[in-house]
Order: sequence, then C-alpha cells, then structure tokens
Amino acid sequence: MIDKFDSKQIYCRKLGHHLGFHYCRLEKGDLPCSKIVDCWFDTIPIEEFLQSHFTKEQLSAILNPPQSKIATIFDLIEQAKNRDKE
Ligand code: SF4
Repeated sequence: MIDKFDSKQIYCRKLGHHLGFHYCRLEKGDLPCSKIVDCWFDTIPIEEFLQSHFTKEQLSAILNPPQSKIATIFDLIEQAKNRDKE
C-alpha cells in the first residue's frame, strides 16, 4: 500500500518543521521530493518503497533532477568565453 508509511513524521530541513511521509511522497504533485532517499533511508525501507510504487522513468526524474543553477551558470560562462575566442 502506497500510504503504508504516511503516518511517519520527520523534521524537514528544507521547510524547517516536522511533516509526514505523505507530504514527502507527493511533494512534486504525483511524485516524491528529490531528497526523499536522503531524508528517509534510516527510518523506512525507502528504496524498496520507491521501486514498488514508481517506474524507472519516474525515479530517474526524481533522483536525477535537471542541472543545478550553478552548473547552468558555469556552462553559460564557458559558452561566452568560447564565443569571445571566435
Ligand atoms: S523528503 Fe523533501 S519534503 Fe520530505 S523531509 Fe525531506 S526535504 Fe522535506
């Protein structure tokens, strides 16, 4: 059952207060928060839970989020440097 751990509580470092697993597994609408493994690995069998309830594609989207803003900025700087050389 997908709601098996919903009553479990944890302190969320991102939001600064306690919340239930229910929030974490639906943080992105139908998908869990990208931090769900880091936050829950020592409380519940989170990897088994994710594999049971989400597809590989969904897990990839969750656990390998798009490039960070910092990485994007470095890429833009590199592209600008290359343009200057041309
Ligand atoms: S999984 Fe996300 S929403 Fe849940 S406690 Fe961790 S950071 Fe907060």
